[in-house]
Parts: sequence; C-alpha cells; structure tokens
Amino acid sequence: MITSMKPYRDALGLVNGQLLVDGAWSDSQSGETWTHLHPATGEDVAQFAVAGADDVDRAVRAARKAFDEGPWPRSRAKDRIKVLRRTADLVREHGDELLRLQALDNSVPLTFSTTYAMSMECVADIFDHHAGWIDKLGGETLPGFQGGDHMVLTLREPIGVVAAIVAWNAPLLLAAQKLAPALAAGCTVVLKPSELATFAVLRLVRLLEEAGLPEGVLNVVTGPGNPTGDALINHPMVDKISFTGSRETGRRVLAAANAGFKRVSLELGGKSPAIVFADADVYTAGAVTMGTVALGVSGQACIAQTRAIVHRDVYEEFLMVAMGMTSMINYGDPFDEETTASPLISAKQVERVLNYVDLGHQEGARLVCGGAKPDGPGNFVLPTIFADVNNDMRVAREEIFGPILCVVPFSDEEEAIRLANDTEYGLGATVYTNDVKRAMRMARGIRAGTIGVNGYQLEPHAPFGGYGQSGMGREGGRTAIEAYTEVKTVLIPTTDELM
Ligand code: NDP
Repeated sequence: MITSMKPYRDALGLVNGQLLVDGAWSDSQSGETWTHLHPATGEDVAQFAVAGADDVDRAVRAARKAFDEGPWPRSRAKDRIKVLRRTADLVREHGDELLRLQALDNSVPLTFSTTYAMSMECVADIFDHHAGWIDKLGGETLPGFQGGDHMVLTLREPIGVVAAIVAWNAPLLLAAQKLAPALAAGCTVVLKPSELATFAVLRLVRLLEEAGLPEGVLNVVTGPGNPTGDALINHPMVDKISFTGSRETGRRVLAAANAGFKRVSLELGGKSPAIVFADADVYTAGAVTMGTVALGVSGQACIAQTRAIVHRDVYEEFLMVAMGMTSMINYGDPFDEETTASPLISAKQVERVLNYVDLGHQEGARLVCGGAKPDGPGNFVLPTIFADVNNDMRVAREEIFGPILCVVPFSDEEEAIRLANDTEYGLGATVYTNDVKRAMRMARGIRAGTIGVNGYQLEPHAPFGGYGQSGMGREGGRTAIEAYTEVKTVLIPTTDELM
C-alpha cells in the first residue's frame, strides 16, 4: 500500500536541488525550476534548477579552466588515488541515504537496490577499481623504426573536459561508471543527470566534494535534454561526450560529437537474448530471465533479457516457470521490504508499453499473462509474457523498456545463434546449458558485449558495453579509463644525427 513519499523526503532532509559551477551551488540564472513527481504516487517531491544555455556555458568554462590551469590534471597519482578512495569510503558510509534518495527519484525498491550490482557497495567498488588504475596508466617505449638514433615514447594524457550524461534507471551506478574513470584519468567533468532522477546524483556529487575534489573539476547542470543536455553536447569547449541513454538520443549525441570532432562513448539500449537449451536448468533460466524483466526496475534496464530464445523441447516448461515468477511481483512503496518491483518511470512510458502490448496482439503473438495496468494509482504495468513470438515481429526487435518478455522458439544451435544475432542491438546475452563446449561455442558466436553462462552479473572491473547499435566503447576495466585519455608520441634523439 503506497501512501505518501513526503515523510521519507522529510526524514532525509531533502531540499531543492541546485547547479554546481566552479565549486559554488546556485539556482539557474533564469530562476527556472523542474518539479520532480514521484513515479509511484505522482506527488511533488521537490524542485531543482533547470540549467539554461548560459548556465551550461558557465559550467563548461569552469571545467575548461580547471583542466587548462588547475591542479587536478597535473596532480600526482597519489593525490588522485586518495580522493577516489575517500569517495569510495564515503559512498559506503552513506549508502543507505543514497539508496533512499534514489528511491525518491525513480522508485526503485530498496529490496532490489541493495543487491550487489545495484548497490552502493558496487558503486564504491567502481571508485576503488578506477583508483587502482591511476598509477598504472603508462605509455610505451618503442625502438626507432628508421634512420637516426632516437627513442619513441608514448604518453597517456587526460582527454580534457568531459560532458557526462546519464539515464534515470540506475543514476548512481551510471554516474559512477563515468565519473570514476574520467576523474581517475585527470579529466574535468560537467555532469548532467536525468531530469527524472536528479537528487541521489546531487548527493553523490557532494560526497565527491567532501572527498577533496578541487573546485571546478566536477560541475553539475540539472535539467532536461532540452535545453540542458542539448547545450552541453554542443558546447565547443567540450572534448569528450560520455553518454548513457536511449539509441534515439545517442544519435543526437553522435551528431554533435561529429560536428565538433569530440571524442564519444555511448552506452545505449538493448534487446538482449536469453538462450535456453534443452539440457539447461530450466527453472533457473525461467526464473532469472523473468526476474530481469519484471523484478526490480520492471524491465527498465538496458541489460534486461527481454527476448528469451527457448528450445522447443523445454518451451512450455520455461513459460510455466516464467509465469510462476510473476507471483513474486509486489508493487508499491519502494521503502517497504515487501515491495519487489518499481513502477514505470512516467505515465508516458506506461502508454508506450501498453501500445507494445496491442502491437504484440496485432502481430499474432500469444499473450500468456499480464498485458494491462493494474487498478490503483502509480505507473504500474503487470508483468507480461508473449509466447510464440517470431523474431521478425516488432515486439521482438524493439526495446520496449517495460516488463514484457517475448519468447521465441528454436530447434538447433545454429538457429539459436542466428536468432540471437538477428538484432540491431548487441549489449548482452545469457546462454543456459550444462554443456561447457556448447557454452563456449555460443559465447564465440553471439555478437554482444557481455555473454553470461547460466546467469548474468555486472562486474565493476570487467569491460561493459555494446556491439552494433547498443553503443560505442566500454565502461569498466583498463578500456574504460583509457577512453578518457589521448595518446601522445614523444620522439627523443639519443645522438646528434638528424632523425
Ligand atoms: P534518454 O536517451 O531519453 O535520456 C538519457 C539522458 O540523455 C538523460 O539525461 C536525458 O535527459 C538526456 N538527453 C535527452 N535528450 C537530450 C539531448 N537532446 N541532448 C543531450 N542530452 C539529452 O534515455 P532514458 O533516460 O529514457 O534511459 C533509458 C535508455 O537508456 C534505454 O534505452 C536504456 O537501454 C538505456 N540505458 C543504457 C545503459 C547501458 O549501460 N548501455 C544503462 C542504462 C540505460 P533528461 O532525461 O533529463 O531529458
């Protein structure tokens, strides 16, 4: 039963949100604000400043100055490590508060956000992991290739001013995946959280300040894609855009990056398959797959395994297990320990998901369960399963971002690989089988950034990202921090001979 979010807000002492520019928190120059409506109750939670183009300009100039003249890009590895490690400690210390603020933002239930991949332990580990790279970011020493006697060195240098833009579904995690490597590399940042999930990110930023980040190194502009995000990606003083969000906005980001010759990393959507062979533990496969679609964020996750490709011999058994999982779905107050799934982020998203239910009917898929909005307040949609889905149907091809699982049958391994790869996306996939050789063949054959075998887990130190239209670049691991650097070649003669 959901009553009101206001007692939680008051207990957390949440006040209206401001912009952070050059170490100073302030309202926007226009005074314009955004009122955050809670997705489970529709109540006003609080307001925050909407940064216009002039605010964004101030923030980018502050980041530029901190990069060109400030201590951070030039600091000793030891000092940067200290700030990131202190941030990790503060995130652990304030973990409960951060998750509660996030629940006020996007209504992700605490029962889910305390599981490792969504937890503040994971966010803290992301800062610790990248802190560990700071003193290992070396270049190469190469022999001279022709003529003269000289040494060839390569240096890794911070890329410059980073515009970091994140989605609302896991705001703290997504912000950490950008801030930790960018700051570790010595960049300065202008961060834009989603207008739908701002407050938890603002608290994380305060913790970074408390950890000792110099003024101007991290600036925050709050507000929607237009005007705030748009002004940020098009600002000429930005060197790199690091974006997590939808493919549609990703296209705009790519266009802005192209126009300004900016470096770019994109973490976009997915239509990730779970491939279930007849020799698999079908109970685990059905429970985990439906869990990613209906529990927690209600399918509003880039890595949700929303396309189950299931061997015909275990097809009906899989459907039974997946359907059984729906009894575990409890909607409501995200702070309540009985609540296991979030509402959809907005009424508009409910409409979009229900349109896909209509489309599934029209395309001839078999509705096994769900497909409707339950009675009562809040942006909820019942967990939905479509069976007998053909991979050509739009419900099997498009990212729906809601609790809808499409189940496609297959007959042999070759067909399974063909179906798995028959998508414009390529973020992740899970293979369920007890045959390790087959698992390896599938891992090689599927074109996706991460392949799970008999399960799927985010690892802060492992590269994460997409093939195809799921994105460009990787977050996590050495690849992530290197993506915030430029390589410079230095040629040093060792004799007086001309090079
Ligand atoms: P959007 O693309 O709508 O928004 C993402 C961010 O971009 C938000 O901060 C948004 O601002 C901002 N934005 C919107 N328009 C512009 C613009 N013109 N210029 C600059 N910035 C803009 O995605 P959602 O927030 O709805 O997130 C859901 C999507 O994110 C899904 O496709 C999901 O798969 C993907 N995602 C991918 C992940 C990955 O790691 N691959 C992880 C999580 C989500 P605002 O919202 O304030 O308007």
